Amino acid sequence: MTPTLVIHGGAGTITAQEMTPAKEAAYRAGLAAALEAGRAVLMGGGTAFAAVMAAVETLEDDPLFNAGRGATLTRNGTAELDASIMDGATGRAGAVAGVTRVRNPVKAAAAVMRATPHLLLIGPAADDFAAGQGLEMVEPAYFITPHRQAQLEEAIRTQRIALDHDVRLPEKSRMGTVGAVAIDAQGHLAAATSTGGMTNKMNGRVGDTPLIGAGTWAEDETCAVSCTGKGEAFIRCAAAHQVASLIRYRGMTAQEAAEEVALRLVPAQEGSGGLIVVDAQGGVGMAFGTSGMYRGVVRGRGPVETAIYR
Ligand code: ASP
Repeated sequence: MTPTLVIHGGAGTITAQEMTPAKEAAYRAGLAAALEAGRAVLMGGGTAFAAVMAAVETLEDDPLFNAGRGATLTRNGTAELDASIMDGATGRAGAVAGVTRVRNPVKAAAAVMRATPHLLLIGPAADDFAAGQGLEMVEPAYFITPHRQAQLEEAIRTQRIALDHDVRLPEKSRMGTVGAVAIDAQGHLAAATSTGGMTNKMNGRVGDTPLIGAGTWAEDETCAVSCTGKGEAFIRCAAAHQVASLIRYRGMTAQEAAEEVALRLVPAQEGSGGLIVVDAQGGVGMAFGTSGMYRGVVRGRGPVETAIYR
């Protein structure tokens, strides 16, 4: 099996009009760095699980993407981070929600899977657990960038004018999220997703990202999936698991299943976003209903491919 890694850096990109060659180069370099980090694991004989963790960790550390440092901010100006990871070989998974101090939430998610009898830990207790596992901890301010603060101010201003809760920000300001799916040389699958959530979210709000079956899914028999977009809609249609069901029961290809969920089922729940898939044969699917989705793929020693718009 040729190891394959697919990543996303969120649906809801900056508009093509606002994109400059320098910005585009920076986003593509960030995506390429994550692909190379994951590929190094896969080509070194590592597992899909280790590869998706390495790719997501790289994107969490990159302030351009809405996960880890550079995450979007809550209404109170804090960063509350969610992440999950699933191992298709064993069906085991781990997740954290609402963490504010662990530098790489995806590592905390993996630690929950490995070192507890549970699947999902939340809030300060999840941070304390991560610290106890020896993971790198940071001050909450580490995650906050001036760019995200400006976005939050814009969101709060818009909301006051609109006098409702529908914050009409450009899609780039609302969404982000990073994720990775992979198949390794042994044919095992894994998926991981990490996010700051949505700008101006209520404190305590949790989206699809840390919910297994909604934002993340992996099983060796069918596929691995990572989602990005309006979390509430993805939760309501169990988006990630739905992709696997369409492949398993309807015999869809990875691309057909990705399109069915991202372009039909999620919009039917009044949401938008996208998702990435790799199936048990190494087939790749990517679909998004937004104007763009930061994304990339690498197969074996082949070229690193990145894309932003359609
Ligand atoms: N799905 C994430 C959430 O709802 C946001 C995103 O993908 O940008 O928390």
